[in-house]
Amino acid sequence: MSRPPHDQITPMSSLPSGTVLYCPDCDMGIYITTRKVERDGTFEGAVRSLADAPEYKRGSSPKRCPFCGTGVWWYPPGYVYTLQYGWVA
Ligand SMILES: [Zn+2]
Repeated sequence: MSRPPHDQITPMSSLPSGTVLYCPDCDMGIYITTRKVERDGTFEGAVRSLADAPEYKRGSSPKRCPFCGTGVWWYPPGYVYTLQYGWVA
């Protein structure tokens, strides 16, 4: 999976609490936001792991799904794949 095309991205200045960050390939929920997250490019301290996903750590590389190892759910500087809104920038 490569970075999503612009016509498939929803611009949002923040993500509401309860947004599920999701794998676009295997449809697993990876993290859920525990408070409103401003789109400054990090989710550190603002997300809870779902299932057996590892705790979120800050990083500047694309993040692959811990379940299938294929799906990329986050591209810096802040493209994320969500259950509720699809790709969000
Ligand atoms: Zn996956």
